[in-house]
Amino acid sequence: MQGLMMERQLLISSIAKHAMTFHPDATIVSVTADNPRHEYTYRDCFGRAAQVAQALTSLGLSRADRVATLAWNDYRHMEAYYGISGAGYVCHTINPRLFPEQLVYIINHAEDRVLLVDPMFLPLIDKIRDQTPTLEHVIVMGGPGSVPEGSDAIDYETFISGHSGDYEWPEFDEDTAAALCYTSGTTGNPKGVLYSHRSTVLHAMAGLQPDILDISRRDCVLPVVPLFHVNAWGIPYSCPMVGAKIVMPGPKMGDGETLYKLLSGEAVTLALGVPTVWLALLDYCETAGVRLDSLERTLVGGAAVPASMIEAFRDQHDVVLQQGWGMTEMSPLGTVNKLLPKHDGLSDDERVKIQTKAGRGIFGVEMKIVADDGTEQPWDGEAYGALRVRGPWICSAYYRREDETGDTHDADGWFDTGDVATIDPDGFMAITDRTKDVIKSGGEWISSIDLENTAVGHPDVAEAAVIGVAHPKWTERPLMIVVPKPGATPSRDDILGYLDGKIAKWWTPDDVVFVEELPHTATGKIKKTTLREQFSDYQLPETGS
Ligand code: AMP
Repeated sequence: MQGLMMERQLLISSIAKHAMTFHPDATIVSVTADNPRHEYTYRDCFGRAAQVAQALTSLGLSRADRVATLAWNDYRHMEAYYGISGAGYVCHTINPRLFPEQLVYIINHAEDRVLLVDPMFLPLIDKIRDQTPTLEHVIVMGGPGSVPEGSDAIDYETFISGHSGDYEWPEFDEDTAAALCYTSGTTGNPKGVLYSHRSTVLHAMAGLQPDILDISRRDCVLPVVPLFHVNAWGIPYSCPMVGAKIVMPGPKMGDGETLYKLLSGEAVTLALGVPTVWLALLDYCETAGVRLDSLERTLVGGAAVPASMIEAFRDQHDVVLQQGWGMTEMSPLGTVNKLLPKHDGLSDDERVKIQTKAGRGIFGVEMKIVADDGTEQPWDGEAYGALRVRGPWICSAYYRREDETGDTHDADGWFDTGDVATIDPDGFMAITDRTKDVIKSGGEWISSIDLENTAVGHPDVAEAAVIGVAHPKWTERPLMIVVPKPGATPSRDDILGYLDGKIAKWWTPDDVVFVEELPHTATGKIKKTTLREQFSDYQLPETGS
């Protein structure tokens, strides 16, 4: 017997309709390249999103055609999100930090027909336009005057201005493709993750829960995570479900001073981003002697979070840092770290120890860790294994690589995340490495992430990476590569002395080298493949290890 419930489809346009009905006066504040503070309401936003939908439809696109965006976080990009997907097209968000050849690859692979681009990225597109034959229309995300003379592009305001916004959002199957985001892996071509309306809506609803992001009408949310990086972790969809105020930082995402002014000026309560942006913010606050008064909590993920960052937010700003873990392939939310009632009586140090873990699985995400032979590892907080996941907002295949799932999914449909993790008896998962970055010394694994997280607690260390270097006796030993803070000149012995007692003795790096900067991917992750190439001939000193 089947239940007798209505079959209403979970569509992204249903979020727009709900927000228009229940939260029309909630606001969105944006910094754009040409306006330090733009403010309007959800009513304006979704009205203009409907104009975008009408304007795109007038181009004669077919259902599921790809419409790309190459833009920072601001109100026009948010309108495009809804206008594109709501009309039944696929919103392909492109990362402007990709190399030109990767841009060409993904535009051609996605067969984008339309591109909405921030004025500052237009030169990037002009350079590759003759290599992207599917691209028929380029819309510059500005007003008249944002399009350079001689260009065949049109400006966004003119593009939508001829349309009334009086629009009936189309109804279609909730499994229809809605958005496309390419992973910027460190090897090979980027792979496309194709989200559906259903997966997007479910993921956004899950994100709102009290033990996840806990967003309500009373919140003011600043996504520093870009709209081109896994849909800004779902924020553009979650916030309108509850009517939270949104603050979009535009092109100034990595600038500590701009972030501070936005956070305090707009009374932001929740901010989300990768660890590097918070380093810039914490540095600025310390130098300027200012405090984050309104901020209650920050969700930090995308890379491991050092204990020193959790402590700095707690001690200097009374802000709770919640770590999250996820992937482009997972929409992205997989785990979020929120302490349990049983942790209430613990000391600060004991609590931070738990907070440095990636967190517990959220409803909708199943997890397991497996050994090389596929057997499940125990959840004892000690045993390591390849982390596999399953759930309704996790990719079942990469776009146009549907016949390659044997490489990434097991026979029961579990997706291999490429991460190595432990899970403790309470279900707190901790990432120890990427599978490809694991250091194997004498048959045992050394966690490069633990070493890096500990090293950045040293006051003179800005960033640290650890890689395995060939060793005649132990197969591999760890080499630590450190970027000192500006003006600081720590020595090898300073760093090793600092690690002493904080890590297992046999994990101690055999050497420490200092560099001015580390190579990063387009999403800000340390490019260990490049480091391994760079240090492939490195001779470790005789340490007797
Ligand atoms: P992306 O698809 O660019 O979002 O990258 C996903 C990858 O980032 C994951 O597979 C992890 O390797 C890494 N990552 C994300 N969150 C965390 C975290 N909290 N701790 C350690 N690594 C993380």
